[in-house]
Formats: sequence, C-alpha cells, structure tokens
Amino acid sequence: MDQTPAVRARGISKSFGDIVALDGIDLDIAAGQIHGLVGPNGAGKTTLLGLLLGLAVADGGELEILGTPVGRSLLVPDGVAGFVDGPGLYPSLTPRQNLSALAKLRGSGSDEIDTTLERVGLSDVADDRIRGFSLGMRQRLGLAAALLTRPRLLVLDEPANGLDPAGTRDVHRVLTSLASTGTAVVLSSHRMDDLAALCHEVTILDTGRLVFTGPVAKLAAESGELDYRLRTS
Ligand code: ATP
Repeated sequence: MDQTPAVRARGISKSFGDIVALDGIDLDIAAGQIHGLVGPNGAGKTTLLGLLLGLAVADGGELEILGTPVGRSLLVPDGVAGFVDGPGLYPSLTPRQNLSALAKLRGSGSDEIDTTLERVGLSDVADDRIRGFSLGMRQRLGLAAALLTRPRLLVLDEPANGLDPAGTRDVHRVLTSLASTGTAVVLSSHRMDDLAALCHEVTILDTGRLVFTGPVAKLAAESGELDYRLRTS
C-alpha cells in the first residue's frame, strides 16, 4: 500500500471578508484512513473540504495533498474525488447515463459502471431518470461517480444526509472497504455518533478553530475536557 500521506495541512487559514472560516488548522490524514470532520453549523467543515477538492485556495498555511504541495492555485493532484454541497448530476439522465457521461468526459472506460452502481445499491434504478430521486439516492449516485475515478483521497460533505439508517450503513460499508484498499476518506457530519463507529480519526472544528484531532479512542478518553472546551469556546 502507498504510504504517502493523503493530507498534510499546517496552519491553514481561510477568511471570507470579516468571517474567519478556518483559523490555523493542522490536519494529518494517512493513506487508508477514514477521517471525520465534525462541528456545528459554520464550524468550517465545508470550507476545509473545499480546499481539499481545489474549489477554493487557503489564504495562509501549507497544504500537501497526496504528497504534492498545493500552492495558491486551485489545482489538486489526480486521485482526489468527491463533492461538497451535493453531487453535480444531470437530472434529466439516468444513473447509468450520468456515469457514462462522466466516464466520457474523463476519457475513462465505462466497464465498471454496473459494478459501481451495484456497490452503492442503485442497480435496481440504474435506468430510471434521477429527477425524482431522493436526496439519499442522489448522494449514493454522487458517491458512485467519485468511486468510478478510483480515488486515492475521497472527500464527502455530509454523505449521510438524506439516508435512512440502513442507507447510512450501506454507505459506511462502501467507505470501509475502500479504505481497506488504501484510499483515504474524509467526510463531515454534524453528529459525532454518525462518525465514531466509522472513522479511525476525527477532527472537531468550532467557529474555524480546531478543538480536537486524533483517534476516536483518544477522543472518548478526553471527552469530559472537550465538553468543557466546546462549552467555553
Ligand atoms: P454547515 O455544517 O452549516 O455546512 P460548516 O461547518 O460546513 O457549516 P462552512 O460552510 O465551512 O461551515 O462555513 C464556515 C464559515 O464561513 C461560516 O460562517 C460561513 O457563513 C462562512 N462562509 C463559507 N463560505 C462562504 C462564502 N463563500 N462567502 C462568505 N462566507 C462564507
């Protein structure tokens, strides 16, 4: 397995006018690690995920993705896939057509489309138009689109949004199996209980500041102290 760290961030900051969305964030995500970002509304989770996807550039700090320094450009290395603010899909097409269109855009083969749709539990609706799909089904299709690129770093903003408990378990199973082959996964949630069972490590953000980062077991050991810091921050 390639041991190059998926993410190494040091002192990352990002502001929007007067709003400090990220304030000096350090983050390490190893290959094959599932890393959860948790925090209340406005904590900075989506902003941080957006930097990993090259949707925005940090104002300060150092960021390396898959061993490549990302400077002040929006270019992130090949091997990064995912989405924030919902997956970008073509609503008038079916799941199979959406994935074929993406494969064509990327110049990649389409032979894995059926197995990928099966992997995310969408085989039965592969030829239905997605216009009427629930949020959870769209999330699954977005995940399928990302999987098709065989990512080494998968970035997902609240992938459990719109999924029922069984759907969440399905998606977690896919992410766990992906990580076991060396892909790093970083995902956000408002809810720690969503992430605790799935993630190797978690990072807690609150109003742009890092409150905790490390293994879930360490978090459990320190949770009394953390409750205090969250209440008083
Ligand atoms: P949520 O869980 O509600 O999505 P979050 O933890 O993902 O929250 P962000 O969306 O990263 O938080 O937002 C962090 C802060 O930055 C918030 O105060 C938000 O209003 C602000 N912000 C984010 N993007 C922009 C933008 N494009 N323009 C102005 N302010 C922004």
